[in-house]
Amino acid sequence: MFAKIITKPGTALNNKTGSWRTGKKPKFLHKNCTGCRSCYLLCPEGCISGSKKSYDTDYEYCKGCGICVKVCPVKDIEMIDE
Ligand code: SF4
Ligand code: SF4
Repeated sequence: MFAKIITKPGTALNNKTGSWRTGKKPKFLHKNCTGCRSCYLLCPEGCISGSKKSYDTDYEYCKGCGICVKVCPVKDIEMIDE
């Protein structure tokens, strides 16, 4: 009868979105990274972490959307087969 009141912000921590991938995942090459943080800032899952010129993703949460590959200005990330 009454709608459930949501009292806490949502979180994807309990949802292993890595299970959404369909055959492709990003590989961080660690060759040309400039540390621009574009991948870190734009990943919709917030699953990229790192510092300086070394970033990587957590495959438990990476859903393989490929946005990080598209936004990397120096092509230091590529999509590979699972
Ligand atoms: S493929 Fe998508 S979800 Fe996975 S690390 Fe890149 S931007 Fe994030
Ligand atoms: S977008 Fe590319 S260059 Fe920028 S931090 Fe990520 S891997 Fe490094």
